[in-house]
Parts: sequence; C-alpha cells; structure tokens
Amino acid sequence: MIHAGAPSSPVILHVPHSATTIPADVRRGILLDDAALDLELLRMTDAYTDRIAATAAADAEIAPWRFVNGFSRLVVDPERFPDAREEMLAAGMGAVYTQTSGGATLRASDALAKAGLIARYFTPYASALARLVDERINACGGATIIDVHSFPRVALPYELHSDLDRPEICIGRDDTHTPPRLVESAVDAFSRFGRVGINEPFIGTYVPLSHYGTDLRVRSIMLEVRRDLYMDETSGAPVEGALRALGEALAHLINSDTE
Ligand SMILES: [Zn+2]
Repeated sequence: MIHAGAPSSPVILHVPHSATTIPADVRRGILLDDAALDLELLRMTDAYTDRIAATAAADAEIAPWRFVNGFSRLVVDPERFPDAREEMLAAGMGAVYTQTSGGATLRASDALAKAGLIARYFTPYASALARLVDERINACGGATIIDVHSFPRVALPYELHSDLDRPEICIGRDDTHTPPRLVESAVDAFSRFGRVGINEPFIGTYVPLSHYGTDLRVRSIMLEVRRDLYMDETSGAPVEGALRALGEALAHLINSDTE
C-alpha cells in the first residue's frame, strides 16, 4: 500500500516485512497449525517497522512516500530474488519460503503453486514499487529508498551468516546505489541507540531489479533495528517510547537527504 508523501520528496520508505496478514487461500498452503504459525510470525515479522516509518513520515520536514507491504513475508518475500540468484533459496527461503526459520517444512515445494504466488503477489508488488521510484525520479530527478527492517537479538537458525556480530543498528549499503554521505547521515541519526554495523550482520539494500546497477538516480540504504531495542521479543509487546525515538531518528535521516 502506498501512502503519498510531498510532491517534492524523493524519499520512499520501503517497509516490506511489518505485516502479518496471510490471505485464506495462501494460509491453506501452509503446513503449520495456528500455534506454530503464530510463533513463526513472531520470529519472522519486522513488527512495528510500519509504525516507525509512519512516525518518521509525520515528523519529517518534507513528508516522504511510504510503500508498505500489506501482506506477511510468508506470502512472498519481496526482497528476495524470484529465481536461482537468491542465496537464501538453499535455506528454503527464496521469494516463496518452503521452510520455516527453524528449518521445518512451511509449504510443499510445488513449482506450480510457487509460480502462482510469484505471479499474484511478487510481480505486481515489484512493478508498483518500480513505478513509484520512476515517479519520484520524474518529479525530483532522483529517488532515495530507505529500506526499513528489524531483526531478532539472537540469530534464527536459517540465517546464513549467523556468526556475524549483531550490533543494535545495522546499515545495509550497496557499492553502486548507496552514496557514502547517506551512510554517514544514517550513522549520525542512529548511533545514539548503540553500535552501528555497516553491512553486518545484514548486507545490501533494496533497489528495484529494473533499476539495479543501471540507474544511478536511484539511491538506497537499508536500516535494520535490533528488535530488543523497541519490543519484548517473547510477547511481541512494543516499547512505545523507543518506537517514537526510532521514528524521530529516521525523520532526521530523511531531513538530511532532502536538505
Ligand atoms: Zn526485514
């Protein structure tokens, strides 16, 4: 779902993993009982990142655009490559997950069903986001994607690089699409929450495939917040003051890009 920002804002807050909604027919293809599904959603959802983005949008001097996935990443994960390029495919967690974060079977690896999910959810999502990026380029001469995520304090079994450090904040950058100044601004905005890792433990940031590597007018940076900063990871309950402070810090980063 797109929340419009100011016509003069090049900034798009992309929130791919905050939702828990799973359409009924997609739910039927998931082989977990309700309790196991709830637990998987608690582990895998970047809870409240939509609220951090909403606070930032309200606080920013020039309102950014927001592109928020209305469905759970267990439907499709819009941040994964939809094909064999995806390194997470080996862990059963390409664009259509077939395994849970703990390595149990999430859904049958039925190629036809997977193709259906890609066609119905992945492709339209990617097209809509690429279209919004093009609109911001046309209006502002460029677009800045801030990819908003969170991650658990303790690595989940599926993570491929779980030996890496887990600082409070992780900034993901890309050699082509992330200007060093944007990284500096992000470190400035978030260092008060603790240590800030660059590409550690999570690497890279979202750029639409249609623009990736070819259109330098697309800038992008990923923000990953360690969840224990703002929520109880066992109950799922948020810490309101921390959510607000994170939203304000994100607004600060947005202001630094548009000033
Ligand atoms: Zn995420």
